[in-house]
Parts: sequence; C-alpha cells; structure tokens
Amino acid sequence: MSIITVIGTGYVGLVTGTCLADMGNQVTCVDIIPEKIERLKQGILPIYEPGLEELVERNVHAGRLQFTTSYKEGLDNCEFIFIAVNTPTGTSQGGADMRYVESAARSIAEELDHYAVIINKSTVPVGSGDVVSRIIRSNLARPDVHFGVVSNPEFLREGSAVQDFQNPDRVVLGSADAEAAQKVATLYLPLRAPIVITDLYTAEMIKYASNAFLATKISFINEIAQICERLGADVKEVAVGMGHDKRIGRAFLDAGLGYGGSCFPKDVRALAHMAAEAGLHPQMLNAVMEINHDQRRLVVNKLSSILGSLRGCTIGILGLAFKPNTDDMREAPSIDIIRWITSQGAMVRVYDPVATQTAQEALTREGIRLDVVTFCDNAYAVAEEADALVIVTEWNEFKSLDMLQIRNAMRRPVLIDGRNIYEAAEMTRVGFVYRGMGRGSGPAPSVLPPGDSTSMPQTQMSLLEGINGN
Ligand code: NAD
Repeated sequence: MSIITVIGTGYVGLVTGTCLADMGNQVTCVDIIPEKIERLKQGILPIYEPGLEELVERNVHAGRLQFTTSYKEGLDNCEFIFIAVNTPTGTSQGGADMRYVESAARSIAEELDHYAVIINKSTVPVGSGDVVSRIIRSNLARPDVHFGVVSNPEFLREGSAVQDFQNPDRVVLGSADAEAAQKVATLYLPLRAPIVITDLYTAEMIKYASNAFLATKISFINEIAQICERLGADVKEVAVGMGHDKRIGRAFLDAGLGYGGSCFPKDVRALAHMAAEAGLHPQMLNAVMEINHDQRRLVVNKLSSILGSLRGCTIGILGLAFKPNTDDMREAPSIDIIRWITSQGAMVRVYDPVATQTAQEALTREGIRLDVVTFCDNAYAVAEEADALVIVTEWNEFKSLDMLQIRNAMRRPVLIDGRNIYEAAEMTRVGFVYRGMGRGSGPAPSVLPPGDSTSMPQTQMSLLEGINGN
C-alpha cells in the first residue's frame, strides 16, 4: 500500500486516483475548484465516465479515497504526487498552456515537507519535466527537502477510461532519476502491463507521437474517403480490406467527421508548434489538422447540395459529445456544425444521451445563440418537422432507431450519416435521401423540394431513389 496524492480531479485525475485506490492504495485527490470537491464528497461526479461512479463510491466507503482543496492536507505523508491538471491550447500558434501545471508545481513546493516522487501525468511539451523540477526547487518552503520527478503520460480514452487505466497497453515512465522511476514502476506492477522506462524527454514525446499518429490515421482515412466518394468506392469496405493487413490494423480507420475532444486537436497543434519552434516545418501534422477541419465542413456542403439554401430549414442533430460514452464537448465537431448551419439561417433540433448540459455550456461559450437550438429528449423528437437529420456522434442508441418512424416525422427525408452507422441500400428502402462519408458518389445531387415525404407521388420517390447515392 502506498500513500498517493493526485492533483486535479478531471477525466485523468479522478480516474487515476480512483483506480489507484481500488488497487489498495491510500489516495487523496486535490482540486482547486471548491464546488467540485464539495460535490465529490457527496458522491456527485463532475464528469460522466462509465463505471466510475460505483468505483468512487466503493473506495470512498472503504476509506481509501478522499477529496480536498487543501494541498497541505493532500500532501500529508504522501509518497507519490501525480499531477493531472489540464494543459489546453494556450497560444494562437497552438502551444500548450502550462499555467495549470506550473501553478500545481508551485503549490506542491509550498507544502512539501518530506521526500516524494512527483509524477507528471498531464500531457506536456518536451522538456516540461525539467521546468517542473526547477519550479519546485526554487519554491520549496523547506529547501532541504528532496524529491524525484518522473514523466508518466496517460493513454486512457474518455468513454472507457476506467477499463483503459486498469488494462493499459503499456505504462511509460521517463526520468533522469532511475530510482524514482523504479518506485513508480512498482505502483503499476499489479496491472501486469509492459513498462517502458526511458528518459524524461522521450517519455513526454511518446505521448505526443502516439496521439499524432492516431490523428494521422483518422485524417488519412478521411482523405481516402473523399477520394472514394468522388470515384465511387466505399470507404467502409476499403477500411475493412486494409485493416486485415497486420501492418495496418483496422483501428482508427473509420471515416467520418474527424477527431475532436480534449486531446487529439490540442496535442497535434502543440506538437506542430514544438516542431516549428525548433525551426522545423511539420508538413504532415499541418495536413492532418487541415483535413480534420475540412471534414466537418463536408456535412454543411452535403446539406446545401440537397436542400439548397438552409435559410428557414430545421436541421436535426443526433449526438453532441465529441464521441460516444462521454459528456465531453471540448472541440466537438457538433459545435462547428451547429455554428455553420445556424449562421446560414437554419434552426437546429438536437439530442445527446448525456451531453445536454455540457453542450449548453459549450455552445454558450462559443457565442452560439441558444434561441435557435432546441434541446430534445430523444432522437424521435429531433426528427419532428426536420428538413434533414445529421448523425454527428455514433452513440449505440442511434444504431437501432426505428428509421421509418424517424422518416415519417420529418418534413424532408434527408439523412446525413456523419459516422457511417447506417447502410445506404437500407436507408434508401426506408425512403431516405442518404449521404454517408466517403461511400460512393452516385449521380450528381439535385435540390430536394420541401414537402411531406410520406405523401410524395411515386415519381418523386423515384427521383429521391435516383439521387440516393452517398
Ligand atoms: P480536465 O480539464 O478534465 O481536469 C483538470 C482538472 O485539474 C480540473 O478539475 C481542474 O480544476 C484541475 N486543476 C487545474 N489546475 C489545478 C491546480 N493548480 N491544482 C489542482 N487542480 C487543478 O483535464 P483532463 O481531461 O483530465 O486532462 C488532464 C491532462 O491529461 C491533460 O494534460 C490532458 O492532455 C491529459 N490527458 C487527457 C486525457 C483525456 O482523455 N481527457 C487522456 C490522456 C491524457
């Protein structure tokens, strides 16, 4: 059993602290937001993450997990201090904002009165471990105190964070202090995962390189999707065919609206920024970001090509969170899509199984008028009198909707499947004008007139079927 402090109770900090407590350690989580800590003490979690609530409850009840806003209380007797605070994009050039890490380091220095290993779990620019060491050394209230610094980047995914933390593909530890790295390695031994021990800078880079590689795979398949769409191939089947090749693998080859969330966008930007600062020209990273941005635009282009002007239209949006099983709205494609659609004079009806509140906050922060956005209680309500429906997040519950009921509720039966969860032939049979992402070109699009699709004359239904390439 070790005594552990975790600084930051967001997606990474709360999951790390809770899982380490569940492994039998004594954990105190520290956050600077009093309301967050107050609610955590009452068992109310600040985030939605499958399985986390029960795990927090179990470990609090067992007396292994506690929460505080006080660094003094949090650092009492601790052997390990994990820093898991946010590192968002900070500069207009894309560099990471290190204010929160630096502030955490200063607060640690002011209260640390015994030896501890300080572990950086936040994703930080290469060289940040040295910065943290310097800040702590120069701010120590007790200059005789010794400490070690280890980089331990986190690879968990929101939506399966608990499962990922408990079953990592690998644990990466980087430090100039081999003894400190070994101490941290012992914490992870029960997970029976490969442990890669390296130097500080390399560990920090492994995190950026991993995220940039995954983002590259996504932008790669999205570029292939655009080519498929133009040339008449189906990217979904292309991905299956490619994925059987062990050198390639099937993961991260789903064409769609591109990546979003709190990690890939900011981490690719930060890596490109680091490269540029070092005098390099990160051509591929720049292309990855450009393709990702354009991918969201395609939805609006598809809508306009079918509906003509969007002014006065009602567009239904299924899914708001940046991916399923999370309420995280950071850099979610839905934000850009709603912004662009409403700026063209359309109203939107939206539904997400868990992200309603975070979406309302995010849209407001982004300056999007909420009076043109109707938040609905389910997917069927979104479809009512809609001129088109856009699937933005591939929540499981959207995969088995009664699509005939959806179509009958709509003013015009247009379905833009931004995540390729439906099949074109099936949706055509139901009566939709269906467009997926990168799934064959079909005949040139024609503008679909408004009107009740359920009572459309046979000739018009044939026309719809005629333009139903995706
Ligand atoms: P988050 O925004 O969800 O949580 C950060 C928390 O830190 C907040 O609760 C905030 O109040 C707290 N905080 C900020 N400054 C503090 C301070 N000085 N003292 C105490 N608490 C402080 O962030 P997150 O998504 O958990 O990400 C944390 C880090 O982990 C980031 O660097 C991120 O890039 C990285 N990461 C995130 C994920 C992910 O899926 N979210 C995955 C891997 C790595």
